[in-house]
Parts: sequence; structure tokens; C-alpha cells
Amino acid sequence: MKNTIYVIVIAVCLLLAIIVFIKSRSGDSGGLDSIKRGEEMYWVMCNNPKCKEAYEIDKKDYYTQIEEKMRANPMSMQTPALTCRKCGEDSVYRAVKCPKCGHMFFHGKSGDFDDKCPECGFSKMEDDRQKARERRQAG
Ligand SMILES: [Zn+2]
Ligand SMILES: [Zn+2]
Repeated sequence: MKNTIYVIVIAVCLLLAIIVFIKSRSGDSGGLDSIKRGEEMYWVMCNNPKCKEAYEIDKKDYYTQIEEKMRANPMSMQTPALTCRKCGEDSVYRAVKCPKCGHMFFHGKSGDFDDKCPECGFSKMEDDRQKARERRQAG
């Protein structure tokens, strides 16, 4: 009688393990699930000179589209461009809107800091780092 209960318990545990395994497998889409919708907005900008459309998209949508593009073209080593909502070309890249002067520019194209403004030289990343350093020195 005792043995039968053990067998049932083991069978149930195995079944649960299989369900958890399948669930975690099917829900795994390359870490995208860890990004919550509404967490952060990204600026994107169209590189088509005739279009120049700039708009904000959800961080989750940004990475979902990047992942789709990468899957469609796995040999490409470059960060894929998103499809523009205005002109329909694959020429939209992540952009930054300068909090100081409002200038829009492409993310990671301007030197030492990914978000350094080519117009006024302000970088939020640099500014944050500077502030953190000052706070540490102040003790
Ligand atoms: Zn466009
Ligand atoms: Zn600026």
C-alpha cells in the first residue's frame, strides 16, 4: 500500500516537471518576456532623407521587432532597422531626444556616450555618471 502511494507521488511529480518544462520552453522568446510593456519608451527615427519620421515606441515593441528582423535575417551582423510606420521602408533606428536642447539624433552614433548630443554635447548617461561620482565623493 505504501509503495503504491510512493509511485503515485513520483508520477505526479514527473508530470508537474514535464508541464513546467513545456511551459517555460514555449514562453521563452529570448528574454523578451522579462521586458514589461509600458516600462520605458524608446525614440526611433527614420533614416530615409525623404521621410525623417521620428516617433516613440514601447521598449517591448522595439525589441520584439528587432528579434523578428534578426530571425528573418540571421546572417546579418548589424542591428536590424525597423520598418517605418510612415514610409514603410526598413530604415528606422533607435534615436535619442536631447533633454537639454531637444535635438534628435541616432543612438550610439556620436562617440564616447551612446546618448551624447552632437548639438550641445549633453549626455544623460554621462551626467548620471558624473552625479553618482559626486555623490560618492561627498560621502
Ligand atoms: Zn520613414
Ligand atoms: Zn542637445
